[in-house]
Parts: sequence; structure tokens; C-alpha cells
Amino acid sequence: MHVVIVGCGRLGSELTVNLAREGHTVSVVDKNPRAFERLPPGFEGQTLVGIGFDRETLEAAGIRDAGSFLAVTNGDNSNIVSARIAREHYQVARVMARINDPRRAEIYRRLGIPTVADVRWALTEIMTTLFHGVEQTELALGDGSMVMVRLDVPSTLAGKPVSSLNEPGEALVTALDRMGRCVIPASGATFQEGDVVHVVIRRESIDGLRERLAGRAR
Ligand code: AMP
Repeated sequence: MHVVIVGCGRLGSELTVNLAREGHTVSVVDKNPRAFERLPPGFEGQTLVGIGFDRETLEAAGIRDAGSFLAVTNGDNSNIVSARIAREHYQVARVMARINDPRRAEIYRRLGIPTVADVRWALTEIMTTLFHGVEQTELALGDGSMVMVRLDVPSTLAGKPVSSLNEPGEALVTALDRMGRCVIPASGATFQEGDVVHVVIRRESIDGLRERLAGRAR
């Protein structure tokens, strides 16, 4: 697939390298030529100096053949303008925009432009880690009141049902890392030593889950 990326800063350069490594052709646009210094030596994709919503630049980057378009500069407005051009004018199938301002992110999501809201993610991650002792919030869902967390299962729970960690309306074990594979637990599955769980949970229910993990409840 051909991917056009606008912004070759901390996020765009990582995306560029990852997508190229996975075999996609990547054209990356940045207004600052020095930004391309973030790319590794020998990077074979196309780099273009230009503004992310300039149609000539976008066409030179191959937007007409692009399957995906990622607007990931540090400017919310320019990301939205270029994302809308990509979607509405060039009909790129998959378009995403990075948005810092969490309130705007929600508005654009409603307009049908999927957004990556880094400030909201950071906020949720910091709050969850500070107040609920979870080391890693993997995902903030919807308005951020629901999160996906990853937790080690203590060996004392080996043999107990995976469903013992579920709480209707509050927490659901959605996946399990076991011996290097990630699986969705079958109904009636039990824990094994060394399991790690991925749980979708309401933020305020995390403490209760930790209690259940410690075997203090039920
Ligand atoms: P970062 O915040 O580290 O991901 O960097 C953002 C990148 O976006 C920087 O390299 C900026 O030069 C670039 N940038 C900001 N605005 C624009 C724009 N309108 N068009 C193209 N690149 C931009």
C-alpha cells in the first residue's frame, strides 16, 4: 500500500520507518527539511519539503495512489485541513489525524475523521498509573472513562477461572498472553502460571480488580 505521511517529527518519523519496514511505500512531507534527519541512513522512501495541505505537494507525494493518509504534524489545524483534503478531495480510503486538543479530537471524531488524541491518551495513562497502580494503560476507550489495562496474573490464581476477574458492567478480560501468544480466552478457561491479562475496565473499578487479582475478594 502507498502511504502519505505529513509531518516527519517524533511521531511521523517513527510511523514512516515502521510502515516502510512492513513493506509499504511511504512518502513523507515536512515543511522543515531538517526533519528528515530523523529518518535512518539509507531510508528509501520519498521525502518532500512542503506544507501538508498544499495540493501540489500532496500530488507529488502520490496522494492519488495512496491507500492511507496520516496527518501527524504538531498543528491541529493543519492536520485537520490536510486530512479533510485527503478524504474529501482525493478520496483516500483511510485517513487519520493527530489532534492535541482533546476537545477538538472529539468533534472531529464525530465528523468522521478518526483522530489520534495524544494528550488524552497521556492524561488517561498518567491518571491511571498515579492513582490505580497500573503500570501500563494500553488504550483509552471512548471518553476515557473506560481503559484497557495489562496486568500480571499472580501464580495463586493458577487453575482458577479466567471469568473470576470479570465484573458485569465493570470489567471484562478480553485477551490473555500465554507462552508468547495472545489469545481470547475460551469460555470456562482457567489461568496458568505466568499468564498476563488484558482487561477492559471502568477506571474506578481498577482497584477492585487488583483486589481480585490479589485473591482478597471472592
Ligand atoms: P513532532 O511534534 O516532533 O511530531 O513534529 C511535528 C513535525 O511536523 C515537525 O517536523 C514540523 O516541521 C512538522 N510540521 C508542522 N506543521 C507542518 C505543516 N503545516 N506541514 C508540514 N509539516 C509540518
